[in-house]
Amino acid sequence: MNLILFGAPGAGKGTQAKKLIEEFNIPQISTGDILRAAIKNQTKLGLEAKKFMDAGNLVPDTVVMGLIEERLKEEDCKKGYILDGFPRTVVQAEFLDKVASIDKVIALDVPQEAIVERITGRRTSAKTGKIYHIKYNPPVDEDPKDLIQRADDTEEAVVKRLEAYNNQTLPVLDYYKKQNKVTTVDGSRHPDEISKELIEILGK
Ligand code: AMP
Repeated sequence: MNLILFGAPGAGKGTQAKKLIEEFNIPQISTGDILRAAIKNQTKLGLEAKKFMDAGNLVPDTVVMGLIEERLKEEDCKKGYILDGFPRTVVQAEFLDKVASIDKVIALDVPQEAIVERITGRRTSAKTGKIYHIKYNPPVDEDPKDLIQRADDTEEAVVKRLEAYNNQTLPVLDYYKKQNKVTTVDGSRHPDEISKELIEILGK
């Protein structure tokens, strides 16, 4: 199963992907995670991407398309994968159709009014990679010292990221709707409720 998790920043793509990899035993491929790892390792790619990411802008298509093309060639992708945060432009979606065959697109629908609060309260565990929200999904078994806030999860960057989502990424949904591949799911509920529904939809 080759799946795309689609949604605005903060819609819960990463959280759901982590639940689905356990259930279906296929990898999550997050271009955001790959780019953040490159920044951490101070590679040339990381240095180039950082300025776009910190400002809340999309990284150029050619950069992320190259990353994805390489990643999809790896052995663990043979039995399927979950794309999280890719494609984010129609150019990327068209490219993906050339190098892969997508079975389904799950769109996590969350009202935009909720997004800023969701993102600014988001924290990730540096140890386990788990994603929390300080108010809605507070960590229980984590050392507070391990919880980090993403550099682009500030209110200023979020406004820019939402703009990019509305202008550049939303047209991707129409692209897949034309291919009859989209299932829209209410992403405003508790993460466990959403993953239950996703497992039902994808298990069929
Ligand atoms: P994410 O972790 O998916 O929220 O991505 C964080 C940031 O990485 C985005 O705001 C973009 O700057 C960059 N990024 C991740 N995926 C893509 C993509 N498919 N196209 C362009 N930029 C991306």
